[in-house]
Amino acid sequence: MNGQMGGQPILVLPEGTLRQLGKDAQKANIAAAKAVAETVKTTLGPRGMDKMLVDTIGDVVITNDGATILDEMEIEHPAAKMMVEVAKTQEDEVGDGTTTAVVLSGELLKTAELLLEQNIHPTVIIKGYRMAKKKVLEALNILGKDVTVNDKDILRKIALTAMTGKGSEAAKDSLGELAVKAVEAVMDNGKINTENIQIEKRQGGSIDDTELIQGVVIDKEIVHANMPKLIKNAKVALIDSALEVKETETDAQIRISKPTELKAFMEQEAEMIKDMVNKIVSSGANVVFCQKGIDDLAQHYLAKNGIAAVRRVKKSDMDKLAKATGANIITSIEELSKEDLGEAGVVEEKKIADEEMVIVKECKNPKAVSILIRGGTEHVVDEVKRAMEDAIQGVAGAIEVGKFISGGGSAEVELGKILRNYAESVGGREQLAINAFADALEVIPRTLAESAGMDPIDALVKLRTKHEKGEKNYGVDVVSAGIADMINLGVIEPLKIKTQAIKSATEAAEMILRIDDTITASKINKGGSSSMPPSGAGMGGMM
Ligand code: ADP
Ligand code: MG
Repeated sequence: MNGQMGGQPILVLPEGTLRQLGKDAQKANIAAAKAVAETVKTTLGPRGMDKMLVDTIGDVVITNDGATILDEMEIEHPAAKMMVEVAKTQEDEVGDGTTTAVVLSGELLKTAELLLEQNIHPTVIIKGYRMAKKKVLEALNILGKDVTVNDKDILRKIALTAMTGKGSEAAKDSLGELAVKAVEAVMDNGKINTENIQIEKRQGGSIDDTELIQGVVIDKEIVHANMPKLIKNAKVALIDSALEVKETETDAQIRISKPTELKAFMEQEAEMIKDMVNKIVSSGANVVFCQKGIDDLAQHYLAKNGIAAVRRVKKSDMDKLAKATGANIITSIEELSKEDLGEAGVVEEKKIADEEMVIVKECKNPKAVSILIRGGTEHVVDEVKRAMEDAIQGVAGAIEVGKFISGGGSAEVELGKILRNYAESVGGREQLAINAFADALEVIPRTLAESAGMDPIDALVKLRTKHEKGEKNYGVDVVSAGIADMINLGVIEPLKIKTQAIKSATEAAEMILRIDDTITASKINKGGSSSMPPSGAGMGGMM
């Protein structure tokens, strides 16, 4: 610290503040970020290992999913937290490729560190990395191949690639099929909102029992024992007001002095409820989903008329029911008409894994569908759910961007080749940084090779040779522990995964490289100064 400050340090920060300057700060930040990358690295790819995470109260999560791992780890170091941000951005933007993004960011820092040791200034590295990123994004656009919603086979392979390694191997094919069908179903005028695909999980049965429901699964039961539990050709009414007589609607001040008055009052109330139910009956509805309560009397009359009803349905479920059945959600029962009703082939209450649920299925052209995931243990259904989410995001992302790319590290090797050629044309010190970027990209094929028990250097040399010969799709075949054409193998991914991973990994690496000073306020001081005026605390002794 003294060396940097030139002689006696002048105290400008509160006592207890931790400060790291220049190379020390850089080293510490890079080390922390690399540590995070190293943690998730072993989970990359279908042969990646799983992590078991145990939280403070002993709950266990077993996963292979980068975003989940980083979410569960309670990371403290600020630079390490940036890696978590990389994963979050990737998850939010693409929904998959989180491990790739974090591992790549860590590797970009690792190769940058080697340049720093050769006294190459961070700004030069950053400039080179930016040039490399630009080149890579351009190249990816050219390498990407077209895909549309009609290319079922390609989409299914994209789903399968996204799912591999996430504990779903046994039923992989059928799960991939489900993901494609679900995305296809909710596609509306070329737009895909994956939130309209509801993923429910129920422990029990086996993964093979996982099913796609052309409709919605509601985690509620039919409200009255005498109501039908299976309704075919359902006419569905969605009501977001209560089916009960509200206190405010009758006169709250009614004073009852004689038993006959009480009787009259109750009869009047019963009449009102009867009226409500009659409105529903005359609309032709045989199933009612109500967002609010349904009182006993209303339940009784509904049951008498053979109408099934579910109460206190979540708002989000009401919206999905509307999308799936085509019903309008109505507020006033007075307004309910035949036109507001939606349709479903079947509505049934079903006991799955000891819990009643109401399944609204066989909807004609549902814009909301559900996938009901089954599996032997809680950990299995959880991991299959994560796999399914990745598959759905992958398929949706591929259709949206309209492009896919070969996986298994093949794209990274090809990009490495392109970058090295480019670096030569650039020359100067930036050339070194661009080459470092190329080296960093190859962490993906190296790690995949390692996970398959191959010698990573050897695999990379073989891959480079193939790519020099124009075999752009050659990558690591983790199953046979060799190298192969990934398109032939069906290992393909949406282009969006790669472009986003490269963007966010480079940005985070840049941000960390740019830091040459870390000032950490002392925790004790912070607490003590909370009673001081904010200006005093904020300025931290800058005077
Ligand atoms: P991420 O969180 O980055 O999605 P994954 O564990 O899903 O991490 O691994 C993704 C990587 O695994 C990608 O590079 C992908 O191309 C590769 N991959 C997936 N399936 C295969 C396969 N069958 N053979 C080789 N590589 C595969
Ligand atoms: Mg993945």
